[in-house]
Amino acid sequence: MVLGLLLARAGVDVVVLEKHADFLRDFRGDTVHPSTLQVLQELGLLQAFLQRPHDKARDIRVHIGGAEAVVADFGRLKGHCGFIAMVPQWEFLDFLRDEAELYPGFRLLLQAQALSLIEDQGRVTGLRAGTPQGALEVHADLVIGADGRRSTLREAAGLQVRDLGAPIDVLWMRVPRLAGDPQGSGGRIGTGRFLATIDRGSYWQCAYVIHKGGIESVRSRGIEALRGDLVELMLLASREASAMPWQLKLLGWFPALRALPAYAVGVGVRPEHVRSPLAAPRRVPATG
Ligand SMILES: Cc1cc2nc3c(=O)[nH]c(=O)nc-3n(C[C@H](O)[C@H](O)[C@H](O)COP(=O)(O)OP(=O)(O)OC[C@H]3O[C@@H](n4cnc5c(N)ncnc54)[C@H](O)[C@@H]3O)c2cc1C
Repeated sequence: MVLGLLLARAGVDVVVLEKHADFLRDFRGDTVHPSTLQVLQELGLLQAFLQRPHDKARDIRVHIGGAEAVVADFGRLKGHCGFIAMVPQWEFLDFLRDEAELYPGFRLLLQAQALSLIEDQGRVTGLRAGTPQGALEVHADLVIGADGRRSTLREAAGLQVRDLGAPIDVLWMRVPRLAGDPQGSGGRIGTGRFLATIDRGSYWQCAYVIHKGGIESVRSRGIEALRGDLVELMLLASREASAMPWQLKLLGWFPALRALPAYAVGVGVRPEHVRSPLAAPRRVPATG
């Protein structure tokens, strides 16, 4: 969607194919990080984006052993937005679509599933797609496969996947919000366990981190055991404060150090920037 918007803004005719009828896929994330907000700023889109409903997470707090600790303080990031914008992914994609559709060269085809590539003398010149109205061929100078982790087009092009691995799995769940619940997103840490709670207004979107491949053990123990684990983790708030690790205590004694985790989480190792003048903000062409 971002590339479709940028190409359309640069005057290129672009067709984006999306196999679903909308972008409403839960759960694909809620956090738009300071580095992304910075890119939106460089593209001239930040002001419009922040007019959409969002929450600002200015820091990350965790509850551990009866105490609360501020782990990262985004307000200490120089030259960046000092917060994470909490926006469900589908809202972000709807925003990009609305911006892109201001340009006459942009077309989004929903319920259009890319099936295979069209090749001519060893060069990709288009693709075949399935739509509710029947088969569709799109011919193009450039075909970009941005169809996610199980990309059809990547496989069709014979490109190899490099698996970088991940040490954890995450269980995502909705928990009803009750009167008297605390405000704002946060996290709870127990011995070898972590639960993130994202405040979605009327409910909590929760992420429970487990060891890679640990789902089989969760399944065999059953849902009641999982509920018990979560309740126990939430109740750790009543334990003694001495369980706080020294790294978190350090962040409490020297708040300036909270800039380091904020940079790691909010900006990352190699933040993207807008370098090409072709991507610079442009006026929306007058209509009519
Ligand atoms: C559980 C979870 C939580 C996350 N949380 C965050 C977060 O808080 N913040 C953050 O920044 N990132 C988060 N991420 C990462 C983020 O979701 C991904 O980095 C991002 O979605 C990748 O974008 P993409 O365009 O490469 O792929 P995708 O988002 O997967 O987009 C691919 C699109 O192509 C469509 N598609 C697939 N096959 C076809 C086909 N054959 N034809 C047509 N369309 C097709 C799909 O429907 C989809 O809309 C999270 C990811 C997960 C899984």
